[in-house]
Amino acid sequence: MNNETINGAQDNHMNDLGLIICKICYQVVGSLPTNGYKKMYVICDNENCIAIKGEIINE
Ligand SMILES: [Zn+2]
Repeated sequence: MNNETINGAQDNHMNDLGLIICKICYQVVGSLPTNGYKKMYVICDNENCIAIKGEIINE
């Protein structure tokens, strides 16, 4: 008896299609496992970006 296991491609893991982008310097901060291509805008830890963020809030 041929005990062959058919190993079908198990693609259960989600692809990291979501990108986390800094909305000030446009640097990619990270990625998210999302079902589909998505972009999320955040403000990164860059000194300059934090300063700009402060300016926006103080408006
Ligand atoms: Zn930034």
